[in-house]
Amino acid sequence: MSVTVSVTVSVTVSVTVTQVRSDRLEALVELVRGAGVVALTGAGLSTDSGIPDYRGPGAPARRPITYQEFVSGAQAQRRYWARAHVGWSHLGSARPNDGHLALARLERLGLLSGLITQNVDGLHARAGSRRLVDLHGRVHDVVCLDCGEATCRGALQLRLDRLNPGWTQHAGVVRPDGDAEVDDTSAYVVASCERCGGRLKPDVVFFGENVPQDRVARCTAMVAAAEVLLVAGSSLTVMSGLRFVRQAVKAGTPVVIVNRGATRGDDLATLRIHAGCSETLRTLAARLPARVVST
Ligand SMILES: [Zn+2]
Repeated sequence: MSVTVSVTVSVTVSVTVTQVRSDRLEALVELVRGAGVVALTGAGLSTDSGIPDYRGPGAPARRPITYQEFVSGAQAQRRYWARAHVGWSHLGSARPNDGHLALARLERLGLLSGLITQNVDGLHARAGSRRLVDLHGRVHDVVCLDCGEATCRGALQLRLDRLNPGWTQHAGVVRPDGDAEVDDTSAYVVASCERCGGRLKPDVVFFGENVPQDRVARCTAMVAAAEVLLVAGSSLTVMSGLRFVRQAVKAGTPVVIVNRGATRGDDLATLRIHAGCSETLRTLAARLPARVVST
């Protein structure tokens, strides 16, 4: 049987071969076939949608803005929104890839009981996933830091367009948080909250900021009920994701990790597949019979 999956067989030197180790793929199929799978996804899942992984190979050298930097003053907020303004137009054209679609299919088949994503791009929802927790929020949502009003990013983008005509024509290298490289932001005009005039922030969890407790609790409950935890496209660098792997291991729940390159959870994994998410999940979903729905 031929399986067309690319596998990275080395952490530091990427050597791509034409077949995923069939024994590992079989083990993955058997685990998922048993249902009760909860998936935890990261930036590596969205790279095939054209959204770069800033922790993966070839990532931009710049690090994301921290919460502390963002709230440090108007200059930092101007720099953030000037870049995000450009990044949004790129994010808007991103489409779910085979990895997103495969996970949505597993949910429809009754095999996937929950999906936790560290990504803020909203592509899981667009692919059709419903039992979804956006652990770090979505760039589609905006919150006022001063009055708490929640608003829609699409509407804000129109306001930013009016305040900064022609701004999105800047060439930008887009990053997973919707940020983009823009050199001179000194002339950029930031939009403020229409209700109180306060500071607007994308309703995503920045570095240096905690995930809301109720959201963590929803994820903890999902993982507690899981039969299998499937990690896809996350290096598990941040504790907000790694904590769920540790929770699963502590409960004796098998953990499968599909990712190119090393992850912080490798030592904890029951099954480790060094491969791209799109091809692995596509192959997995294709191997699982539709009849599972009626059983
Ligand atoms: Zn406000």
